[in-house]
Order: sequence, then C-alpha cells, then structure tokens
Amino acid sequence: MSKGTINVSVENIFPLIKKFLYSDHEIFLRELISNATDATLKLKHLANIGEANDVAYGNPKIEVKVDKENKTLRIIDEGIGMTKDEVEKYINQIAFSGAEEFIEKYKDKEGEDTGIIGHFGLGFYSSFMVADKVEIITKSFKDEPAAHWVCDGSPNFTLEEADKEVRGTEIILHISEDETEFLEEGRIRELLVKYNKFMPIPIKFGMKTETLPKPEDAKEDDPAPTKEVENIINNPNPAWTKQPVDLKEEDYNGFYRELYPMQFEEPLFHIHLNVDYPFNLTGILYFPKMTNDMNIQKDKIQLYQNQVFVTDNVEGIVPEFLTMLRGVIDSPDIPLNVSRSYLQADGAVKKISSYITRKVADKLKTLFNDNREDFEQKWNDIKVVIEYGMLTEDKFFDKAQKFALYPTVDGDYFTFEELQEKIKENQTDKDGKLVVLYASNKDEQHSYIQDAKDKGYEVLMLDSPIISHLLQKLESSNENTSFVRVDSEPVENLIKKDEEQISKLSDEEKETLKTFLTETVPSEKFTVQLEAMDSKANPFVITEPEFMRRMKEMQQTGGGGMFGMGNMPEMYNLIVNTNHELVSEILNTKTKKKKERLVNQALDLAKLSKNLLKGEDMTAFIKRSYEMIK
Ligand code: ADP
Repeated sequence: MSKGTINVSVENIFPLIKKFLYSDHEIFLRELISNATDATLKLKHLANIGEANDVAYGNPKIEVKVDKENKTLRIIDEGIGMTKDEVEKYINQIAFSGAEEFIEKYKDKEGEDTGIIGHFGLGFYSSFMVADKVEIITKSFKDEPAAHWVCDGSPNFTLEEADKEVRGTEIILHISEDETEFLEEGRIRELLVKYNKFMPIPIKFGMKTETLPKPEDAKEDDPAPTKEVENIINNPNPAWTKQPVDLKEEDYNGFYRELYPMQFEEPLFHIHLNVDYPFNLTGILYFPKMTNDMNIQKDKIQLYQNQVFVTDNVEGIVPEFLTMLRGVIDSPDIPLNVSRSYLQADGAVKKISSYITRKVADKLKTLFNDNREDFEQKWNDIKVVIEYGMLTEDKFFDKAQKFALYPTVDGDYFTFEELQEKIKENQTDKDGKLVVLYASNKDEQHSYIQDAKDKGYEVLMLDSPIISHLLQKLESSNENTSFVRVDSEPVENLIKKDEEQISKLSDEEKETLKTFLTETVPSEKFTVQLEAMDSKANPFVITEPEFMRRMKEMQQTGGGGMFGMGNMPEMYNLIVNTNHELVSEILNTKTKKKKERLVNQALDLAKLSKNLLKGEDMTAFIKRSYEMIK
C-alpha cells in the first residue's frame, strides 16, 4: 500500500470544493457519470481500432446504486478502467490540479457571476461537495491488478492493489451528514433524468416491473404476467443524434413528448439542426403553439454538450426571439465555464446564433412554399415569434419578406408584396403614399372596419402585442407606406384623396357650432374637429390619432428611446360631421338644455361604438335614452 499527500498549493482545497457554489452540489453526479461515459466510449474506440483486441466491448452500461444503510452512493462503469499508475497520474495529479485551477479561478466569484453555464470543469473532485470520503476501485483493460484509492477529504490518500476482477471503475461516495438527500432514491432518479436522460451509454438504476402481454388462454380476470427488468433511465440514441433522413414525422413528435412529458399539444413543426463545419452543432427545435402572452412560455430549449444536459437557459446562445421555441441543441463548441456576457462576444457562439436564425428562416420559407394553406392556418400560432424576430434581427427581417403574412379581417392572407399590389390602386393617397389600414380587435372596432370596407378598402387584422413596434419598423423600411388603424381618423380622412367635400354649413355657423361643442364636451379628453363628410356617415365619430396611440402602445410594451414621455393621457378627437342632419338640428335648436341633451346623447353613442361608455356615463346614457323614447 502506498500513502501520499496530494500536492496542495491552493490552501485547503477540500473545504472550498465543499462550499463551492452551494446550490449546485447536485452536479457531482453529472460529472461522475460523464467520466464513466467517457471511460466507456474510450474502450469502444479502442475496440474499434483493434487496440483492445482481447477485450470484447459487449454492451457495457453504467450502474448507479444507493445504499441508504451504509450511506454510500456508487457509480459503476464497465469502461477502460485505470491501472495503479494511472490513478496516481490522472486522479492525484492531473484531476487534482484541474480542480485546483478551477477553484482558484472561481472561488472569489461565488454568487457574483452566476453566468458560468452549468459549472462544468470541476470533474471528479466535485464528489467532495457531497461526500466526506471517496473510494475508487478500478481495473484497467490492460493486464494489471486492480487499484483501490481512498481519500477522506484531507489531502491524504491511500492507494493499494485490489482484487476486482471485472474491467471498469467503481466510485464509492460516502455521503456526508448534511448531504443525505443524495441517499434518497427519488432525488437520485430526478438528477439522472435531469442530466443524463440522453447520454450515450445505458444507465441502470435499480429494477422495474414490466407488464407482459397475457397468454392467449388466460381468463379475463387473470392478472397480466409481469417481469423484473433493469431500469434503464436514459435513451442513449435520442432523435437529434440521428440523420434527418432516418426520421419520420412521428419520430419527431415522439421525441417532443420525451422532452416534455407534460406537454399534451403536438408541436406545429420542427427544424433539425445538423452542421459540423465551421462548428459542430446538432439539435431539433420545435415551434409550439404560441399564446399571445410572450412571458408564459415555460418549457424551454435545452442545451446539451455531447448528450450531457448543461442548462435550459440558452439566453445569449440562441437569438432572443427564438428562446420562445422548444427543443434541444447540442454543441461541444459552446464554451461552458464562462459568463454570459463573455459568451455573447464569443466568435463561435455568434456563428452558431446566426446559423440557427438562418435555418429557422429557411424552414419557414420552405413550409410557406410547400403548403401555403397549411402555413396560413398556423400563422396565428407562430406569428409572435416571427414578428418578434423581424423586429429584433435585421437578417431575419429581410428573409421574412418571403413568408411573413398580413391577414385581413376577412381571413385572406397576403405577403407584403401581394398586399402592396392589391391595394395600391384604391389606397394611395393624394401625396402618393400607400396607406395600409388595419384593425386590432374585430368587435371593438366593428363600425370603423365596416366604414372602411364600404369604401372598398382592405383592412388587416394585426393584433400581436408588439405590433406597434413592428409597424414602426415596416414604415421605416418601406418609405412610401404608412400604417393607419381604422379608428384613428374618420373614414374620409383615413386615406386623404383630392376630393374636396362641400360643407352644408357656412363659416359663421361652423364657428357657433364649434364654440358650443367645445363648451359642452369634456375638453380634457376630446378635441372637437368639424369635418364635412358624407351626409349618411355618422354625425359624431371618436377617433384616436395613430401616432399618439402607437407611441402609447410602444411605451406599454417596453419601447426603447421612449424616455421622458411619462404616462401619456388618453386623448381622442371628436369628429363632427357638419353635413349630417342631426348636426344641423343641434345648431338650430333654441333651448340650451335641449341642445346639450342632443350633444350628450350623440357623444355617448359615439363613445359606445368605440367601447368607451362605461360606469356612471353608461347609467346616465340609459336613463336619458328612455326619457327620449317616452
Ligand atoms: P476530466 O474528466 O475533465 O478529465 P476529471 O477530474 O473528472 O477530469 O477526471 C480526471 C481523469 O481521471 C480523467 O481524464 C480520466 O483519465 C480519469 N478518470 C476519471 N473517472 C474515470 C473512470 N470512471 N474511468 C476511467 N478513468 C477515469
């Protein structure tokens, strides 16, 4: 037996390891299973190239065993193993100095830099986060005796020969008093599922009962026969590691359910990522059905590295608008123990991010070209992502010109180009500007939509939460186009043409009318504006100017550069149609009281059609209406 002292230069590394990133103690298991996996894959490689001729690779697995009574957790592999000399070299020297270096680098950053993704790097010595004694019993594939290494968390270790006959390594953790959660089967299962669900070597954790089909001659209430089988917790060949040509639609949907067992809705479609130059990346992204609320997307994209789970926070790796998708990305080229801000500046990560964006755009374009009808049907469920992408990623914006859709209130779908073509005749104003009309709520803006349609205008239905931001962007990239919501002007003014409307009222009458109206309607809310409109158009119409409303919306949904605008007040225009009979009547009514009654009633009707009549005003309106029909 040999004894020794690990060469410590960082003063007391073990207490540091123990304390290291308190909340993340659980990662020790991932590290140990990664080592076991590597050892197994190394053996496979050697067997493949004929180096380990006399050892059959077979079907090695990794086993995890909890022994609550003896307070041990064991990780057993059938991999390459280590000789005594190798334990000395890899565990006492290399692994130790690796851990030392890692601790040295991060010991002062505890709590401060939470950006270290998944805290990779501590390796074997992370076992001391949960154990106060660790044993390694290992037998190399080489013809040498097994070795037994024991370390009790001080820099002292013992290393002696052991009588283990079968190839592979067994790590025995003597779990410390304050980490007994890692002796709970449920907790270990949870960790295995979280980190190792798709690792390439089968991982056995206990046994499970499998129900077999009943024999043909079984009676109806005979119980189905059962069998005890090994409980393999992982799928060593997840869909993303396969070639797209080998997968069918149902395989993709099946893998989605494997990833998100609590999701009962099928994804809308998937994108298989597969590239090995200039960086290595595989993965499958899914478009789930989106709600309009961008904040409640909870099942996230999972990041793996060689099939080991790292994190489900892919911020900084995937462009923000795509974080709403689900699925898996796996890349060994994403640096792991660095902070998020460093990550975003990393060249490989930038390339990966723009590759993903491009793939998503290409897939959308293909879906659009291959089956437009289907794409249109899905539009409502995917538009939030696409519109958000158009808003935030210029390259995506350009690509989206080919597939972004603009639906009308009647359920027709146009691309922007088609839309321009369709409306340019009827919706170009006197200055040559193309005016695109839209609504955001079919019910609330019903009368305005109707008026616009009566004029032969197309009305789009744009109701995403970020639409005002996107319109701003569309206007700045299409110089001669403006978007106007149907209720922002009286229909005559939505698209200003050269036709001069003749007013029935003289200038003097207009002056009198305006003065009276301004005194009667609440001026803090309404600006009175007289317009000579069609005599059949409504006498009073309430509008909210496009610019003001859009700014307000942008402010509410977090617009950049909108500082100092405070909380913008609700301001409307009250458009009064001077050609309507009722307006002449208001003008000609003699008694002030009657006049006011007419104005208030007409104003309330205008409010009603814009959904503004509520509370006390509504009660007064109903009462007044009954009186009027008495
Ligand atoms: P890393 O895995 O990053 O190299 P570790 O500290 O986890 O660092 O392990 C150090 C070395 O110890 C490994 O590179 C490997 O050579 C050896 N080792 C660790 N675990 C095993 C194992 N289960 N079987 C064989 N060798 C192992």
